[in-house]
Amino acid sequence: MAYDSNNIFAKILRGEIPCDKIYEDEHVLAFNDIRPQAKAHALVIPKGPYVCSQDFAEKASDAEIGAFTRAVAKVAKQLGIAESGYRVISNSGPNSHQEVPHYHVHILGGQPMGKMVHLPE
Ligand code: AMP
Repeated sequence: MAYDSNNIFAKILRGEIPCDKIYEDEHVLAFNDIRPQAKAHALVIPKGPYVCSQDFAEKASDAEIGAFTRAVAKVAKQLGIAESGYRVISNSGPNSHQEVPHYHVHILGGQPMGKMVHLPE
């Protein structure tokens, strides 16, 4: 699985384009989605060059995976949605409609989220 370092999240990590930062640590960056699909919509990304969920789970270190999981909870708390609840989505690979080929999860909440999946007709 080849990582393309020209993707938009790689550019954000290099500081070449701005983001609306929520949280950062050694392994993780989180920022608000530019086209929010819920009242709260954040993206959490690892700093390492991983293409998708599969790539991250297979290649990242335990420290990176641990930091990432904890960061999701920290971001939810910072957004004030830890108690009301939220949905974590990760699109991984072509069938998932993943648009940005740098692993990320979406945290969506701040309102009732409805059914989990709506498949196209
Ligand atoms: P996905 O389809 O799972 O790859 O989601 C990519 C997400 O990245 C979409 O929800 C976009 O709105 C979001 N996105 C794209 N460019 C930016 C950006 N510059 N800053 C923040 N979010 C972005």
